Amino acid sequence: MNTPVVCGECGARVLCEKFSPAHTQVQWTGDAATTCPRIAAEVRAGRPSARVRSCAALGTSIAAAVLEGRLEVPADV
Ligand SMILES: [Zn+2]
Repeated sequence: MNTPVVCGECGARVLCEKFSPAHTQVQWTGDAATTCPRIAAEVRAGRPSARVRSCAALGTSIAAAVLEGRLEVPADV
């Protein structure tokens, strides 16, 4: 299940899905590429936005979402 998470720094909104505690899939929405300055810079450099994961603030927001129970983490198998 995709859970929307908003970057605490730039406000970019992404969809996150946890497959295991160590594996998070992050799907940038179209707007994130223009909202997050770090992603925008990568996209201008020619990288597809779906591959950019350089926003550290977003990583923090995702970790917070997990702690708050908003982002479900499947148990380790
Ligand atoms: Zn950001």
